[in-house]
Amino acid sequence: MINTRHRIDFDPEKCVGCQLCYKSCFVDVIRWDAVNRKPVFKYVEDCEHCFYCQSVCRRDAIRVIPDYESEHLLQSFPQYR
Ligand code: SF4
Ligand code: SF4
Repeated sequence: MINTRHRIDFDPEKCVGCQLCYKSCFVDVIRWDAVNRKPVFKYVEDCEHCFYCQSVCRRDAIRVIPDYESEHLLQSFPQYR
């Protein structure tokens, strides 16, 4: 079994804790750290690369880097067709 290697670059120095990225993620990749008031990126391999989180961040603190190559490989497995 292979996994995608999507990456999400996050710059905590730029983040102002507005929660917009957290609220925009519909697949539960982004959790919220209430103590530090910062997003936490979990299960990044499940990211749908919709770029919502990157788009809503007015501080330019998030960059989504999809791994299209692994996704293409995954689609070659019958169970994913
Ligand atoms: S949208 Fe940007 S500034 Fe707001 S919490 Fe997310 S990373 Fe931080
Ligand atoms: S790109 Fe979309 S699916 Fe991926 S972490 Fe951001 S909001 Fe969630």
